[in-house]
Amino acid sequence: MSNTKCPQCGLVNWSDAVACKRCGWQLDWQYRPASQFDSAAPEPEPLFSSTLTFLTAILLLAVAAFLSHRVFHVIDLETAKIAAVITMTGGIGLLILTHLWLVLRIFEQSASWGVATLCVPLAGLVAVTKFWEKTRRSFIGQLLCVGIVLVGSQIVPR
Ligand SMILES: [Zn+2]
Repeated sequence: MSNTKCPQCGLVNWSDAVACKRCGWQLDWQYRPASQFDSAAPEPEPLFSSTLTFLTAILLLAVAAFLSHRVFHVIDLETAKIAAVITMTGGIGLLILTHLWLVLRIFEQSASWGVATLCVPLAGLVAVTKFWEKTRRSFIGQLLCVGIVLVGSQIVPR
């Protein structure tokens, strides 16, 4: 918009005019503080939401337990077994939740892609690349959970 029509007399004023040149009508209603516009605009979603930060923290704890037992030998076998059970069961539970989250995200974008994800192997991966902006966080969340389960399964040597 390069100009503003005066609601009082109809004169077209420059967009930066504070008051109408002809009748003096206050046009500055549009000069609201920038913060008002900011709150109206949808906030850009950060890639690392609190959920992803939480999952990353659990993955790091699993890695720490793995390193403590297998590399540095600072925790005994019993403690390592408990850590393995916790990270694996927790990881599988979170994996199911993040998978539901991802499927829900795909359904939000397209119902047919959502059905395809549930029925056709690997259709979910195609849907993730197709709707990357909307599915990336749930997809990364799912990968983090796979990592938690994998690391958890390696804490105690077979
Ligand atoms: Zn006017």
